Amino acid sequence: MMRYTLPRDMYYGNGALEQLRNIRGKKAILILGGGSMKRFGFVDKVVNYLTDAGIEIKLFENVEPDPSVETVMKGAAVMREYEPDWIIAMGGGSPIDAAKAMWVFYEYPDTTFEEIIQPFSFPTLRQKAKFIAIPSTSGTATEVTAFSVITDYAKGIKYPLADFNITPDIAIVDPVLAETMPPTLTAHTGMDALTHAVEAYVSTLNSPFTDPLALKAIQMVFEYLPASYEGDKTAREQMHYAQCMAGQAFSNALLGIVHSMAHKTGAAFSTGHIPHGCANAIYLPYVIKYNAKNAAKRYADISKYLGITGTETECVKALCDKIDEYNVKLNIPKTLKDFGIKEEEFLDKVPAIAEAAVGDACTGSNPRPITPKEMEKLLTCTYYGTEVDF
Ligand code: FE
Repeated sequence: MMRYTLPRDMYYGNGALEQLRNIRGKKAILILGGGSMKRFGFVDKVVNYLTDAGIEIKLFENVEPDPSVETVMKGAAVMREYEPDWIIAMGGGSPIDAAKAMWVFYEYPDTTFEEIIQPFSFPTLRQKAKFIAIPSTSGTATEVTAFSVITDYAKGIKYPLADFNITPDIAIVDPVLAETMPPTLTAHTGMDALTHAVEAYVSTLNSPFTDPLALKAIQMVFEYLPASYEGDKTAREQMHYAQCMAGQAFSNALLGIVHSMAHKTGAAFSTGHIPHGCANAIYLPYVIKYNAKNAAKRYADISKYLGITGTETECVKALCDKIDEYNVKLNIPKTLKDFGIKEEEFLDKVPAIAEAAVGDACTGSNPRPITPKEMEKLLTCTYYGTEVDF
C-alpha cells in the first residue's frame, strides 16, 4: 500500500494572502525569517487579516537560513508558553521548515531529534495546532511537502525530517510574495523546482498520481523560468505555481541522487556555500546521463512531453542539452570547477563526500543504484565537465 498526501486546502492567485481573514481560531504564532517579509509589508498584512478574523497573534522572527536545532527548540518553547491553535510560517524554505519542526516539539515536548529522524515515524500531530505555510520563494515547495531540513551545527549534521504529519494543512501560494525575489535566487530556486519534478518523475516511487504534476511542472519551468529571471510578473506567477506542483509530486514520489549530491556538497568546501538550487542545476544533466542506463524511457517521456522527437537516446540527449542551455541563460556554471571549488580540496574531499552522498535519504528512490566508487566518478565528472560513460 502507498500513501498520497497533500495539504487539505491551497489558496493561490494574486492577493490570496487575504484568505487569512477567513481562518477560524483563537491564537496564531507567525514564524518568520530575516526580515524581508516585514520590509515588504506582508507581516503587517497578515497581522491585519488575523486581527480582522478575531485571532490573537504573536511573532517569532529571525529564523536563520539553514535553521538550527536551537532555533527549533526556542520556537517550540515559545509555542508551549503561548499555546497557539494555528502555526503560520511565511517566507523562504527556512522559516517554514523550522516551524514544521517546532510544531513537533510543541505538541511532543519530550521527543528528541534522534527519535524523529527515522522517516515516517512521527507521533500524530494536530493535537494542539494546525499549520499554514506561505512561501515567498519559488523552489523548495515546503508549503506542500512532508519534509523539513534542520541543522545540528554542534554535530555538523543536517536532519532531513520526513513525515506526512508535517505536510501543512493550508498552503497560501500568493505570487505577490514571490515578486520580491532577486534574479539569482529566482534562477537557483527555479532550477531546484525543475530538479524536483525530474527526479520525482524518474523516481522508483513515481506513480500515476505524481506523474502529471511532474510533467506539467517541468514544461512550465522551461516555459517561464527565463522570463521570471528577467523579472516578468506573469512568468513569476507561473513559476510560483510550477514549483508548488513539483513539490506535490516529489513529496509523494521522493527524489534521487541529484539531491543526495547537492545535500552533501552544499557546505563541504572552504570556498563557500553552493546554493542548493545551483548545485542541483549543475548536477542534473550528469545524473540524467548516469541514470539513463535504467531510466532512459522515463527521461525520453519528459522530452516527448516537451515536443521533442527522436529515438530514446536522442530524446535523453536533447533533455540534457536543454538543461545545459538553461543553465547558460541563468548564469549557472557547468562544473564545480567553474563554480570556484579548488581542485586540491575537491580531490581531497571527494571520497568522503561520495560515501556520504550514497548514504543520503534521497539515494534510495534513485532509478539506478550507485556505489561510493561510482559516486566518486560521477562527482569527478561534475568537477571537470567530463562525459559520464559508465
Ligand atoms: Fe530541492
